[in-house]
Amino acid sequence: MLERLILFDLDGTLIRSLNGFIAFNEAIYKTFGLSGDIRTVIPDGNTDPLILEDIFTAANMKVEITEEKWRAFAQNLYESYTDAIQRGLMRVFPLPGVLELVRKLAEVKGIYQGVVTGNLEKTGRLKLEAAGLGAYLGLGAYGSDSRNRNVLPGIAKERWAGVIGKPLPSRHCTIVGDTPKDLDAARKNHMRCLLVGSGRYAVEELGLLKPDACLPDFTDTKAVVEALLG
Ligand SMILES: [Mg+2]
Repeated sequence: MLERLILFDLDGTLIRSLNGFIAFNEAIYKTFGLSGDIRTVIPDGNTDPLILEDIFTAANMKVEITEEKWRAFAQNLYESYTDAIQRGLMRVFPLPGVLELVRKLAEVKGIYQGVVTGNLEKTGRLKLEAAGLGAYLGLGAYGSDSRNRNVLPGIAKERWAGVIGKPLPSRHCTIVGDTPKDLDAARKNHMRCLLVGSGRYAVEELGLLKPDACLPDFTDTKAVVEALLG
């Protein structure tokens, strides 16, 4: 049987959030008493811990993020996102073709779908739920596992080995993302990589990086499945 582990990035790959910055900035204020703004940095492909550091650096603020502060920020972020989603202030939706794709992949025996994302686990899972993807995806590695994106694929692979009952070879694992950082993480882990032009980077730009496959979006389910399993 053909066995493959597909590890999806979230933002820009599977989902897009409207007004997510409001909750993020609110959590910064609640935790640190400072007005940091996520819109002053390029968060794409980065982990939440590094995004937070970037925001303070961009504002020339010297902030020591202790373990305690970090835990408080994670909790505040979860609460702010939950509140913003419930009040309809923030919306999370799946990108075109994504629902069809994960449903299709869920039907194929031997295909395992997981995540590798810079989101913290609690907020990442919240976004997946809000986008209607929670029933299909969740297990993997998150920004709360490490601030270094390049170690996340290995963590996800190990967790999946526990579920599958054996480790899959790296060449049977594919990272699916929307930024050069996703590709970098795949390469560092000797995994395949499919890049999609539904985020900040245009498909032409991503194609120049020579990933194993590159698509403008996920609207052609058959083409995505072929790119993933071919
Ligand atoms: Mg992304």
